[in-house]
Amino acid sequence: MNRIAFLVLGFTACVRLGFAQEPGHPAAGPADGMVVVRAQSLIDGTADKPRHGLEIVIRGNRIIEVRAANSQPLPASAQVIDLGGATVLPGLIDAHTHIFLQGEDPAAGGYDVQLLKFPASYRAARAVVAARRALEQGFTSIRDMETEGAGYGDVGIKQAINEGIIPGPRMWVSTVSISSTGGYPLEGYAPEITVPKGSQLIDGPVEARKAARQQLDHGADWIKVYMTHRSWLDAQGALVSQPTLTVEELKAVVDEAHGWGKKVACHAYNGLGLQRALDGGCDSIEHGLEITDAQIAQMLKQGTWYVPTLQVYYTDWDPADTDSGKRDRKRVALHGVSFTKALRAGVKMAFGTDVGGFKWSDPIAEEFLREVQFGMTPMQAIQSATSRAAELLGQRGEIGILAAGAHADLIAVPGDPLADMTALKSVQFVMKDGVVFKSSKGE
Ligand SMILES: [Zn+2]
Repeated sequence: MNRIAFLVLGFTACVRLGFAQEPGHPAAGPADGMVVVRAQSLIDGTADKPRHGLEIVIRGNRIIEVRAANSQPLPASAQVIDLGGATVLPGLIDAHTHIFLQGEDPAAGGYDVQLLKFPASYRAARAVVAARRALEQGFTSIRDMETEGAGYGDVGIKQAINEGIIPGPRMWVSTVSISSTGGYPLEGYAPEITVPKGSQLIDGPVEARKAARQQLDHGADWIKVYMTHRSWLDAQGALVSQPTLTVEELKAVVDEAHGWGKKVACHAYNGLGLQRALDGGCDSIEHGLEITDAQIAQMLKQGTWYVPTLQVYYTDWDPADTDSGKRDRKRVALHGVSFTKALRAGVKMAFGTDVGGFKWSDPIAEEFLREVQFGMTPMQAIQSATSRAAELLGQRGEIGILAAGAHADLIAVPGDPLADMTALKSVQFVMKDGVVFKSSKGE
């Protein structure tokens, strides 16, 4: 037996194994041999409780069995990875990312500088780093929710990852996204100046359908639509969001995407735009800051997913005594209530963060703590980023689960993440598709 004990405590530096040294030549992982991963505890992504004393048997890029540890003799060539007292989980899934965004800190130029002053090559270089950051933090799959003015760059990054040229998570990409005239930045410039837009702006069902066709033709796995844009407080202090597409425009997008076997994710805060998103047949509501009881009932009836992205709304608040600062605080007050109501009602929910809207150097796993703050159990929170998110992606049984037949995407964290969710910020071990990407003491 070729016993390689990745005893976590023994490692102080990250080792990353198995990545291509030459472009176009994916790493030879342990494709032929058997790999056995052992850890004290195992959270499989679907069961209510962790299990103990198990080992995960992997051949090539798939899990072939999860069984009692040491229950069967291993072939001499088998490689054993012993993670000691760690907890092993399925590779995590972030269903709302932006690898082409690098935070929106106003002091660093905010959103606009990224479209106006960053060369495409620079944005691509930083997207490569963002993809790596996701994987380092245990996110072996992401649904990237548009490139924010970087065109079809996500399609190329995904290709480079799939070919083993750069490390990164599995990606479901949505390319350019769709909004309406007046419905997305850049804005606030003189009308005489033509500035780039962070979304493809359409007016009318014909243009909407054409934009969807263009994006699907160039590789979109999902279509991302902005159904609300600016938000503010009215005289009574209620949150108001400007609607963008009409129901007819959205229906054209949804009809087209569904015809291609693809789905539509709708950014929608509240009010009229959120209602249109539901009436138009969106497959997932992104953010959903203020969802009424009637809208929750409609989501349940239609099987609509909810990807709330809680944590991002706690970043970059304007000062408390400004209109926008009051708006920022109102948004989080409403959001937590909506999350709790949707959870209790049984709306399908998946983990998403909007990372990129905040810096890629911040811990993605902070979102787990918010989910628990607003009512999920720690296990529900973990499942929102494993089996539930896999279901959103149409990948049930393939990812987000530790079971026979699934991709060998797995991570380990120190101790018991159910007792201390901050453990999810200290991912020590990452395997994607049977290849070890990271084995370290943590960060
Ligand atoms: Zn987003």
